[in-house]
This record gives sequence, C-alpha cells and structure tokens, in this order.
Amino acid sequence: MGSSVTGKLAGCETRMMMAKTHTVIRDARILTMVDGDREFRGDVLIADGSIASVGQCSVPDGAEVIEAKGGILLPGFVDTHRHVWQTQLRTAAGDWSLYDYLVHMRMTYSSFYNPDDVYLGNYVGALEALNAGVTTMVDHCHILNSPEHSDEAIRGLRDSGTRGVFCYGLFANPTSHSPFIIDPDMAWRYADARRLRAGTLSSSDGRILLGLAPNEPESTPFATSAIDVSFAREIDAHVVSCHVAMGAYDQGRQFVRQLHEAGLLDQRFLFVHGASLTDAELGMIADAGAGISSTPETEMQMGMGYPVAMRARAAGVNVSLGVDIVSNYSGDLFTQMRMMLQSARAQAHALLEARREAPRAVGATTQEVLRMATLGGAEAINLSDRIGTVEKGKKADLILIRTDTIGMVPATDAVAATVYNAKAEDVEMVMVDGRVVKRDGVLVDVDWPSIARRLQTSAHRIISSARAVDPAIAKGVVDGFFAAPH
Ligand SMILES: [Zn+2]
Repeated sequence: MGSSVTGKLAGCETRMMMAKTHTVIRDARILTMVDGDREFRGDVLIADGSIASVGQCSVPDGAEVIEAKGGILLPGFVDTHRHVWQTQLRTAAGDWSLYDYLVHMRMTYSSFYNPDDVYLGNYVGALEALNAGVTTMVDHCHILNSPEHSDEAIRGLRDSGTRGVFCYGLFANPTSHSPFIIDPDMAWRYADARRLRAGTLSSSDGRILLGLAPNEPESTPFATSAIDVSFAREIDAHVVSCHVAMGAYDQGRQFVRQLHEAGLLDQRFLFVHGASLTDAELGMIADAGAGISSTPETEMQMGMGYPVAMRARAAGVNVSLGVDIVSNYSGDLFTQMRMMLQSARAQAHALLEARREAPRAVGATTQEVLRMATLGGAEAINLSDRIGTVEKGKKADLILIRTDTIGMVPATDAVAATVYNAKAEDVEMVMVDGRVVKRDGVLVDVDWPSIARRLQTSAHRIISSARAVDPAIAKGVVDGFFAAPH
C-alpha cells in the first residue's frame, strides 16, 4: 500500500506510488558514463530495482536515503572475462607462463575440484568482485566436471548477489593422471547445458544469464567449433566466450575469419585476448556487433602481445576489460584499467622512441578506459539496454566511491581519481538490481570468518592433491599444443 509522491526539482519530475523499494542516493558526484556527459553533483532515485530519476531529487516518504557526501557515483563495473572458480588458488600463478598455466591449472588442479570447491570459488570470487565494485561478470567456467559442478557454480554466483553471464564451459578436464584420461564425451555436456536452459537459467531477463564457452578454438578443428557454435544458437546462449588470437601463441587459424566465412559470426560472440586479430577480423567483429574482452595483466605476463583494446576501439569494436585468472591477480577492475591505459601509452611511446621522437601527448585517456570498464563492458555482452550507465530506466547497478580517504582526497578529477587512486577499500556502497550488497564499506549478510575457513580448507585439499601428480604427462599434452605449426 502506498501514497502518492511528487518530486518537483529539476531532472526529477516524477509522480509515483510509494513502495518500500525506493532509495535515494543523495549528494553524489555522478559519472553517468553516457557518452558526452561530464561529472555533475546530484541525486539518484531508485524504484523497484531500476533508476527512476537522476538529478536533484526530493526524498519520497519512506524511502531509504544513502548519503553520498560527495562520493563518486557511477555504474557498477562490468568484468567480461573471469575464471571465477580459481579463487581459492590465489597466488598459484604469480610467476607462471601460459605454458605453466596450461600444465598446472588446466591439466592438473582442475581435476581435483569437487562441486563444493566450485561453489566456494564462485561465491567468494563474486564477493571479491562486488567488494571492488564489479557488479556484472562473465564467468568463463571451464571447471564443469559434472552436472553437480555446474549447479554449484551457478549457486555460488547467485548467492553472492552479482549480476552475470554464466558461460557453460565445454572443455574436458582430465579425470585421472595415472593413467592420464580426458573424457572426450560432449553429449552429457550438451545435455547438461540444455537442462540449465530449460530450468535454472531459463530466463533471458534474470540476474544470471546462460552463455557458452566452446572448446578452445585455437586448438580445436573448426568443424568441431562450428558444432559448438550451432549448439550455442540452439540454447540461445546470451554470450559465446572464446579465447582467440593470443599473440605469440597464435597458430594462424584466424578463427574469427572462419566464423565470418561460415556465416556464424554474430553479436553474441565475445572474443577474449585477440592481440593478433587482423585488421580485417576486427572489421568483421565490428560489423557483427560482437565484443572483445581485453585482459591486459594476463596478456602482458604471458606473452600474448600488447592488449588489442585501443586498436579494436579504433576499428569500431565494442571493447571491454576482464580480470581473467584470479589464481594470479586481484579481482578488481581498477588494476586492469591502469594496466590497459599504461600499456597502450607505452606501446605508442615505443613507436615514437624508435624514431627518436619524444611524445608530446599520452594518447589513451582515463575516460576511455573507464568507459571500457563500464558501458563498454555492457555493450560487449549485449546488456547496454539494462546496465552500463546511470540513466533513467536502467537497472540500479551502482557503486559509490568515497573521496575522503587518505588515498583519495581531494579527488579533484573524478574520472582520474577512479582510475588511478581508488581501491576496493574505497568502494563504500555497491548496489545490484537496487539491492545494496555492500554498505558502509562492508559486504552485507556475509559470514566472512566461516567462509574464509571453508575456502582455506578447500585450497589446502586441492593443492595437496595436485602436488602428488607427476606433471610429465600433462606437459606432453600441452607440448602438443605448442608444437602445432604456425
Ligand atoms: Zn581466460
């Protein structure tokens, strides 16, 4: 039951029926991330999970008020590539090459995850992301060793409160190391993804959507990839997430060109990495309305070439950022924005230096990378009609960054402060679908001491099990991948 309320101030002319679901975030420095908008000071009214008004809003009777006190309010970050299951293996990959990662993470650790481990990895990984202001993530989930694994992966995402796309990974992990066995049967995996589409992920408008991660296209015959892609269409996968064109590891397959020529390239594709995509392929991606996820930290550590983001953006592609392997990096996008920005500048400067010219300008800007981490992410995964900006009608996925901490004052430029100075600890409030999941700098309804203990136990069991495995056979399998002709 409610009463009628009228907001009368500029930008907030609205007449509504009151309900308990109204929230006003008051007196914020707002970055809408709408192209062309500049920072302004104002309020945001949220009703029933969506943004009802942006401007100077009166407070409806009974509404919750969140005092921003001049903090920076912007859309939640969108991470378009993460293997969330690896959360309890943090620090494992700190000094790994891609070769080490494939041998140890993909061919060894992955075998020892039980469904409960997957739940914990996804639950805590999504909490870590929310704590840092990431409100939407694409989970490229290649730990699905059974239907129970997929159920628990989804439950972990759901319980955290995040928005996301769960990309069902078709990749087969080893089931035994002595002897070394990989179960090649795709039939149960297709059946499992169909089961999810018919059941728990049947909605195309829910908080967690179903996507697909086909078998690795860079080491799979195209005919097989085409079957996976057809399957993605059958289940109407929201996103098709593919690792492609990884610089020095590129074997010349030109997967994007092959998709284009087969008539299979469409906007649901999200191409991850992509440093060695040709200009022609970037044009094909742009024309199809598909997206790219650039993961600068992985790409620079593992020799996958300079991040493709700026080149792709110039080609008109929907470009976004991803964290990728949380067995190595922190799960925030602040770090990835900085990595992206400075790698792009370093690359541009190196071209000048080769001609003995000093740069007079830096090229890539803070605004460009902040866009990649917000609206760009929403565009890359076909969700910009719902999220990615602070605009009337969008879902209320919002974050508030305080500006009064020792690392933020005076935050004169809100964009630069967000990109360069902010940390997860500065994220004061996080809201997904209008529901506050972090308040006053603390995650809501999370029994962290208990969860931390469970995560520790899970990590210990997986690491000790993997330690007992002789990596020689896994190395042989990965050597085969590296030995393929370029
Ligand atoms: Zn990846």
